[in-house]
Amino acid sequence: MAWTAEKIKQLKKLWLKGKSTIEIGKELGISKNAVVGKVHRLELAARPSPIKRVQKPTTATKQKVVKKEIKPKKMTLMDLKLTSCRWPIGDPKDEDFHFCGADTVTGKPYCAEHCKVAYTSLKELTLQNAKAKKEKEEQELLEKQADALLKEADEKESKKTKATSKKKLSLEEQQSLWEQQADALLAAADEAEAPKKRASSKKKETAI
Ligand SMILES: [Zn+2]
Repeated sequence: MAWTAEKIKQLKKLWLKGKSTIEIGKELGISKNAVVGKVHRLELAARPSPIKRVQKPTTATKQKVVKKEIKPKKMTLMDLKLTSCRWPIGDPKDEDFHFCGADTVTGKPYCAEHCKVAYTSLKELTLQNAKAKKEKEEQELLEKQADALLKEADEKESKKTKATSKKKLSLEEQQSLWEQQADALLAAADEAEAPKKRASSKKKETAI
């Protein structure tokens, strides 16, 4: 295909309209490559091509992403100003450990967001401490009560032992009492027997 003045004029028009090389080729009845080659040879000015128009937002997004990545500049201890939030982020052992660095709430060492976190956890900590203290006190009270109960039980037990030993003693006493009584009875019986014996021995004496 020969490039006539008419065709070149048409090409320039379509090019300026922002048509794609494929579209221009279709319109002129030539290949896309032929269009590209002619555009190059004519040194036509670059124009906002549809492809570029699609690419533009992509580039913008890319820049935004990059910006986002750069934005949280990792604040080291050296970077901190008096008005920088010194809320630690990450593990101090890690390389990417840093500080929040946002502007602080006046008079506070942290930014508004971290003040909320810090003072909430502080409140929780205080509550936890109070709870732990209460639990400890309750535990101590329970232990005291248990001690008292044990002591009481011990006292009861020793009283019981004492009572039992008293009973035993009285039993022993009873037994010895019975033994005494038995002895007395035996002695009485002996006494009653004695005159008879004496009498019989007298008889013998007289017999002799
Ligand atoms: Zn902060």
